[in-house]
Amino acid sequence: MIEEEFDAVVIGAGMSGNAAAYTMASLGLNVLQLERGEYPGSKNVQGAIMYANMLEKIIPDFRDDAPLERHLVEQRLWVMDDTSHTGFHHRSDHFNEAKPNRYTIIRAQFDKWFSRKVREAGATVLCETTVTELVRDARGRVIGVRTDRTGGIIGADVVVLAEGVCGLLGTRAGLRSMPKPETVALAVKEMHFLPEELIEQRFGLNGDEGCVIEAVGTISRGMAGLGFLYTNKESISLGVGCLVSDFAAVSESPYALLEGLKNHPSIRPLIAGSEIKEYAAHLIPEGGYKAIPQLFGDGWVVVGDAAQLNNAVHREGSNLAMTSGRIAAEAIVQLKRRSHPMTKRNLSLYKVMLDNSFVVKDLRKHKDMPALLHTNSSNFFTTYPQLLSQAAQSFMRVDGTPKIDKEKATTAAFVKARSRWGLVSDAIRLACAWR
Ligand SMILES: Cc1cc2nc3c(=O)[nH]c(=O)nc-3n(C[C@H](O)[C@H](O)[C@H](O)COP(=O)(O)OP(=O)(O)OC[C@H]3O[C@@H](n4cnc5c(N)ncnc54)[C@H](O)[C@@H]3O)c2cc1C
Repeated sequence: MIEEEFDAVVIGAGMSGNAAAYTMASLGLNVLQLERGEYPGSKNVQGAIMYANMLEKIIPDFRDDAPLERHLVEQRLWVMDDTSHTGFHHRSDHFNEAKPNRYTIIRAQFDKWFSRKVREAGATVLCETTVTELVRDARGRVIGVRTDRTGGIIGADVVVLAEGVCGLLGTRAGLRSMPKPETVALAVKEMHFLPEELIEQRFGLNGDEGCVIEAVGTISRGMAGLGFLYTNKESISLGVGCLVSDFAAVSESPYALLEGLKNHPSIRPLIAGSEIKEYAAHLIPEGGYKAIPQLFGDGWVVVGDAAQLNNAVHREGSNLAMTSGRIAAEAIVQLKRRSHPMTKRNLSLYKVMLDNSFVVKDLRKHKDMPALLHTNSSNFFTTYPQLLSQAAQSFMRVDGTPKIDKEKATTAAFVKARSRWGLVSDAIRLACAWR
């Protein structure tokens, strides 16, 4: 029996669910949002860099009251071996603009704020409520959900699945398959608390300025992975993630990798004296374009991480989540206003709109990159970082060896490690995947 009817039910109060619920409610739809966590954000993990442009398209004046940590003025990209890092750094005073482009955030606080906006827009938000089942009619159309609160059905014209990468509803209902170990990364993260002034001193920051470091190399022990350090106001988020299939194939634990990162001579001084208050682990969808499942059907759409909409190459996820949630909501509102039913055919509008957005265009651009890095992970994450470090040290050390001999020795080291053909083949494959 249907207990109550809504225009839309949104499952999950993460970035994608909040974006969808806010957009639909503020455009006049009767929306119910269900979240299994004690409060929005209690189950969610992110580094976390938040990209302002995508939130501005949903809540233009978000800077007035959103809990933002630091706006980013500096990005460091490091290639590490066991004792050193070689980096590309970009810092610009242009990032000290009136409306900064990227901020660090703490998801538990940010999601609570976003959820308050969803309520203010008119949606009904119920936490501590797990959706246990998608309900379908005799023709297979999704017509509502069941929760762990009551036995009855909550009816909806359309159900927005924003249940995150681990979401079981869509997979159990056969709407998409379980993510494969080679298309999801397992990331672990710690929060290191330090006095505000010490963080500013260590990273050369003024006021709310922030700096982030992202690193690849021997820290991932030959697996395809990434380490990160993000500065918040009074804490540093430090984490590392690698593909689940790689963890399964080697005997490294995620925690051991994080310990290795913390004790690396380039990282240790940056977190020295900190108090660790939180440890979290979460999956990240990293299969790229080829892993995107069916995005819509009769009475349902799927958004955010649940739809594998995550750009591992550029380390973006929350912005794809917010954008897919907003676009799905806008498509639904368009259909509603034209009194078009939420059929598979009509909801294909969501995919058309998403295909035209940066979300799918960016994922399609690097569609072969995740698989390439995985296949050749020990070359890209161990051999080349070590060779790069040796080359940089040889170049910088002034010891009376003629430069021509150093260049020959560096070339010989690369050829010895990978052979000429191996080097050319890696370079071609990398260029093809990047193009
Ligand atoms: C360690 C780490 C670092 C990251 N760093 C960054 C970063 O710096 N920048 C960036 O842009 N992205 C980053 N990401 C990715 C980003 O966190 C995700 O892309 C984003 O959170 C996806 O949002 P979402 O709403 O799709 O899913 P989620 O945020 O996971 O939200 C899903 C929600 O659904 C709820 N839910 C699930 N099942 C049910 C159910 N049956 N009933 C009710 N509720 C349910 C969950 O409790 C959860 O609240 C990072 C991810 C990780 C793990």
